[in-house]
Amino acid sequence: MPLESHPGRPTPLGPLTVWRALPAHGRRLIGPWCFLDRYGPLSFTDDKPMDVAPHPHIGIQTVSWLLEGEVIHHDTLGCEGLVRAGGVNVMTAGRGIAHAEETPKGNSGRLNGVQLWVALPEAHRQVTPAFQHFPEVPHLDAHGAIVRQFLGGDSPAATFSDITGVDAAVHAGETWSFPLTAAREHGLFVSSGDAELEGQPLDVNTLYYLDPGRTELSVKSRDGVRLLLLGGTPFGEPVLMWWNFVARTPGEIAAARADWEDGRFGEVTAYRGPRLHAPPLQRLVPPNPAS
Ligand code: MN
Repeated sequence: MPLESHPGRPTPLGPLTVWRALPAHGRRLIGPWCFLDRYGPLSFTDDKPMDVAPHPHIGIQTVSWLLEGEVIHHDTLGCEGLVRAGGVNVMTAGRGIAHAEETPKGNSGRLNGVQLWVALPEAHRQVTPAFQHFPEVPHLDAHGAIVRQFLGGDSPAATFSDITGVDAAVHAGETWSFPLTAAREHGLFVSSGDAELEGQPLDVNTLYYLDPGRTELSVKSRDGVRLLLLGGTPFGEPVLMWWNFVARTPGEIAAARADWEDGRFGEVTAYRGPRLHAPPLQRLVPPNPAS
């Protein structure tokens, strides 16, 4: 049987078009991972391809992971974090924070990366907002691949549930084997290159779902591949995602929207320009209890 696959959908994000692979139809969460946007690879000269004006979050962590280029983060706590390939920015929104992410001045003219969100479990979703920047995440030269752990495992970033966030650069002509925890489900996303898993060739910018019960991942590549492996124990809580908010009830969403529109999240003073406004609330749909 072929693997369950979710091709990224082209989605406008300011001047950028991103490939949105999560949430997917029929697959809203993989462990606590609830959002995956891929952007790039692209080259630019004078313009600013990443320019996401101040906007709020509740109930999640945002994870900014780059393969090339630079992104600068500013938030309502006054934190600044310039992230480059190999480093990570992790923002714990908890009960509420707003941030902006942009291409910095003095950049390399390249942009290639992912924006990920992690849903916070009930016991932790009201935590105090925080921001962490790590210039370089733990990495190891595994047989056949360079493996970087940006969340979970050896990563120093704060986590609130059982989670895996790994980037693997598999060398040409190699097979990369990686141990999996059987209790976890996983998503495998191909960033670039060619790969084969369980005899099936994998497509770029596509998220493949791997159900719990597996104890090893084995990926073969002819010319080399760059992969993301996202995992965690099935989340087990219904999640309501609306705009940039992840909550449990429509009432919480409505309150967060009002807090943002009325200025109660605070200001991202380091950003030059107007902030984003929340969409009209009529688009709100009830939570899907199956998630
Ligand atoms: Mn954001």
